[in-house]
Amino acid sequence: MFGYAAFRGEQQAVIEHLAAGGDALVLMPTGGGKSLCYQIPALLRSGVGIVVSPLIALMQDQVKALCQLGVKAAFLNSSISADAAGKVQGRLLHGDLDLLYVAPERLMTDSFLNLLVRLQEDNAIALFAIDEAHCVSQWGHDFRPEYRALTVLHERFPNVPRIALTATADTPTRHEIVERLALEQARQFISSFDRANIRYRVTQKNNARHQLQAFLDAEHPNDAGIVYCLSRKKVDETAAWLREKGRDALPYHAGLDAATRSKNQSRFLREEGVVMVATVAFGMGIDKPNVRFVAHLDLPKSMEGYYQETGRAGRDSLPANAWLAYGLGDVVSMRQMIDNGEASEERKRLERQKLDALLGYCESTTCRHQTVLRYFGEEHPGNCGACDNCLEPVDTWDATQAAQMALSCVYRTGQRFGAGHLSDVLIGKLTDRVEKFNHHTLSTFGIGKELNAAQWSSVYRQLVASGILESDIEAYGGLKLTEAARPILRGEQSIWLRRDADPAIQKAGRKAQRAERTAQGNNRPREPFAGANDDPLWIALKAKRTELAREQGVPPYVIFHDSTLMDMLNKRPSTLDEMAQVSGVGQAKLARYGDEFLGLLNNFAS
Ligand code: ADP
Ligand code: ZN
Repeated sequence: MFGYAAFRGEQQAVIEHLAAGGDALVLMPTGGGKSLCYQIPALLRSGVGIVVSPLIALMQDQVKALCQLGVKAAFLNSSISADAAGKVQGRLLHGDLDLLYVAPERLMTDSFLNLLVRLQEDNAIALFAIDEAHCVSQWGHDFRPEYRALTVLHERFPNVPRIALTATADTPTRHEIVERLALEQARQFISSFDRANIRYRVTQKNNARHQLQAFLDAEHPNDAGIVYCLSRKKVDETAAWLREKGRDALPYHAGLDAATRSKNQSRFLREEGVVMVATVAFGMGIDKPNVRFVAHLDLPKSMEGYYQETGRAGRDSLPANAWLAYGLGDVVSMRQMIDNGEASEERKRLERQKLDALLGYCESTTCRHQTVLRYFGEEHPGNCGACDNCLEPVDTWDATQAAQMALSCVYRTGQRFGAGHLSDVLIGKLTDRVEKFNHHTLSTFGIGKELNAAQWSSVYRQLVASGILESDIEAYGGLKLTEAARPILRGEQSIWLRRDADPAIQKAGRKAQRAERTAQGNNRPREPFAGANDDPLWIALKAKRTELAREQGVPPYVIFHDSTLMDMLNKRPSTLDEMAQVSGVGQAKLARYGDEFLGLLNNFAS
């Protein structure tokens, strides 16, 4: 039916447990393959599987995708007419459904519960699946009061197996799910939260827009992706700028009217290669599997935010990029945003801690997958081979002396100047400002000539990121010393900093790599998806998919996922039997699309 060669991770165990009538709690990261965990048991057991989901906007596409596979699926929520709902209920009672997706508020109505009672009399409920189960937690962002009432399922239908699923990993949320949904007896299936197909990368900002453009041109010339910015204004400007550069970029933020938002979102979902420039308002419930990159032009607020936002890339488990550019200015402005905010002191302290953890991640010199997972309490062996630090190990240097100079320059100038001015003083640059404040007469003037302005900026950024310096709101963000500066100034503690790659050198390096690849007659970077970008067969396969999707009014991935087209590209099937071996080509899709895609492939072969 699904056309896959094998189960992934815990899928088989979950499916067997549920098919045999057990309850389950499944914690799996985004893209881990949670849906199969309830879809297959619902097909195996007699009766209909009832799936509770708060993501109403997604139900229609989810159901369409299932129908394509030959699964008898339908949904009930506030978006459909009474007439259509009546039809679905008719099918339900006639045993004509394998899966029914239903919004929680609909499930809780007396009329629907009565329907369930009638079904249960014939033993016709296969299971209850509670998707996005973290919505029961009032501590999370997605709290849904109706989820609390779902215990009624257990009370009224004790013999029907239940499965709760979520991609939210933390222990308090897990305990709350168990308690609130009365899942004490349920077996827990906890997967690793590593998103191994996501390549994490953190770049030091010098000209963020151009860095973004270079990244997109080099690695994602035609791909769909998300660019996150902090402010609405920056979203609008960045989207306009990318459009000028020839990208199909659209803005999304809470300041746009609902019609524009929904139009842009639907273009992103239904068309190929759209870049969504957005604030964090965008993303919740976005189920597009082939988001190939997530770029951050501003810092996320926390590691949780970073993991969630980058996690929207690569749900189809093909390689995807998480790219973040950040600089000293970001650290200073994020800290100020917290300090100037309305929150209580306690809350601010928490926000500062969360930001510091993120900054620690940005500056870390070890495996990024390891750092991310450790934050969530999971061990990872490191050396993933898929993050910047593993692919191009970071150089560190003993910066004790430089840090002493940098710190004493802060002290001598009165702890109220920014990094730009401080580095002028260290280098011995006689600017108007330096003269105005008489800083050319200081003992620190010109003592740091060995480093250039970019290097001093790197030193200051890392000192701020590690909490040795902080920005002072009263002094308009000027830097001042913290307690942690003392042992360094006294020479009691040494400090090692990362050596930022010189942007000019980095650029030259990439050019050389490209030249080398061209010389070898191989213009493809490692990733299959990126390499396929300009392959005419790949383009033709995607065009065929788009054509079929348009005809049927569904998103392209509902026809075939990228991974399926990729497998076709690699396997080049020439018969229906061979086509059936392609991952993601089940019986129904083989019958529906097999000939059409074979025709296309054979044309290319001849
Ligand atoms: P989640 O809900 O956990 O985010 P999905 O259920 O949407 O994940 O699955 C993620 C992707 O992986 C989908 O494209 C799905 O078709 C694919 N997938 C799931 N299980 C398998 C499998 N066993 N083999 C191949 N692909 C799979
Ligand atoms: Zn790594």
